[in-house]
Amino acid sequence: MFLDPFEYVKDNTDIVEVAETYGLEVNNQNKALCLFHPDNNPSMSFKDHYFHCFSCGAGGSVIDLVMELFELSSIDAVKKINNDFGLGLDLSPGQKIDFKEYEKRRQEKAAVNGFKIWLDQTYSEYCRLSRYYWENMLRYKPNPLIGWFHPLYVEAIHRWEPINYILDILSRGSPEEQIQLYQYLKEVKQRECQRTLQQCF
Ligand SMILES: [Zn+2]
Repeated sequence: MFLDPFEYVKDNTDIVEVAETYGLEVNNQNKALCLFHPDNNPSMSFKDHYFHCFSCGAGGSVIDLVMELFELSSIDAVKKINNDFGLGLDLSPGQKIDFKEYEKRRQEKAAVNGFKIWLDQTYSEYCRLSRYYWENMLRYKPNPLIGWFHPLYVEAIHRWEPINYILDILSRGSPEEQIQLYQYLKEVKQRECQRTLQQCF
């Protein structure tokens, strides 16, 4: 049985090192400007052997990254990484590697891992949001003598429950609930959440 060349390349490289070698700037939060959409605030996040873009949803392994950077097929991306990083994989025609079969598996894995990264990231961002609203509830607590509600207090009261409901699904929901949430946040809530996050930090 042949070694899966896609797995081999993925497991034997550090995706951040590859990204940086090819000119991407990865900040100390392990994020870079996304290659897959016009991005001026780093939203492509790296974790373990994968990346995921928080804004446009693009994701994958080091192979997808190199495919996009150099406009290569997956096989040519494997060849390039193998050469540039001296991985020593024998891809000569004599090996008769069935790339098609490996390609299918590669795409499935990339999707699953992208989802895991999204879950992690979303959880930590919603924890920050939750903390932000909690602090606003305390800071702008209405004074009964004045009888006036600070808009940030009102906002915090409104957002508090939905945000904690989302946190609950992210941490304890079933896979179906989490996928539903993913679609919901991507379509409706994502931009709103990003805007609020930018205001708070
Ligand atoms: Zn993106």
